[in-house]
Amino acid sequence: MSKETASNARMARSDVSNARNALERGSRGATPRPLASAGGTGVDTLASFVESLMSGSIDVIDLTQPLSEATPMIQLPPPFANTPNWRTHEISHYDEKGPAWYWNWFEGGEHAGTHFDAPIHWITGKDRDDVAQVPVRRLVGPAVVIDKSREAQANPDYLLTMNDIRAFERRHGSLPEGCWLLYRTGWDTRANDQKAFLNANETGPHTPGIDIDLARWLASESPVVGVGVETVGTDAGAAHSFNPPFPCHQFLLGANKYGLTQLANLAKLPPTGAVLLVAPLKLVKGSGSPCRALALVQR
Ligand code: MN
Repeated sequence: MSKETASNARMARSDVSNARNALERGSRGATPRPLASAGGTGVDTLASFVESLMSGSIDVIDLTQPLSEATPMIQLPPPFANTPNWRTHEISHYDEKGPAWYWNWFEGGEHAGTHFDAPIHWITGKDRDDVAQVPVRRLVGPAVVIDKSREAQANPDYLLTMNDIRAFERRHGSLPEGCWLLYRTGWDTRANDQKAFLNANETGPHTPGIDIDLARWLASESPVVGVGVETVGTDAGAAHSFNPPFPCHQFLLGANKYGLTQLANLAKLPPTGAVLLVAPLKLVKGSGSPCRALALVQR
């Protein structure tokens, strides 16, 4: 070691030791940090948030359906290809294949269970983001919940319209910038029964959705970044014969917006004021991904 290097090494050691001493002095003499940060930059909202989480005044609601071999899957008619059911395969279970560990591998589609639709999923969004490219900033945002469960129970083909949005806005104020529109229909109670969930007969599936004009407005004019539903897809069961077909997919994904499906527990959210967090897997070139969707709610 040269003289210079040895001296540098001694200096580096002494820097580390000085820093450690400073930290210890600081922590011994430390008083609890006030929520208002120093320097007049305003309240430390993240510290205030953590305090609310710990005290339970902010609750975390799981909007995700369990993902298993029993999870209902969309069924497209011939000649279209379908996604397989979710399957889990055991690798080892504290046995001779792995005496101290349990793990599985799984197979399943990108659009399985509670999942996220990326813009590239639809032909209108083919040059837009895949699921790995979606900016994470847009995966966290305010949520508004429109409850049409009574209407959907009376009419499984119920379509949400612009009038429903206007009525909601008159009561609860304008849709906030960058929000997620969560559309409650009561369909989550059917999520453990493929037949009831898809609700198909000889004329095709009958599940609630969004009408063409509203889908167009949500995509092109509204402050919404994504639409979340309790059904198997963002479009109505009968949307295959709309003109254009599947307007939510066509307009929203084409406008670089997102879909979120098979949600649970929307009944536990207020109409406004909740915060949605969506975490799809960062699948390179993925068209979507099973995801965990959570909501933060003020108690
Ligand atoms: Mn999908």
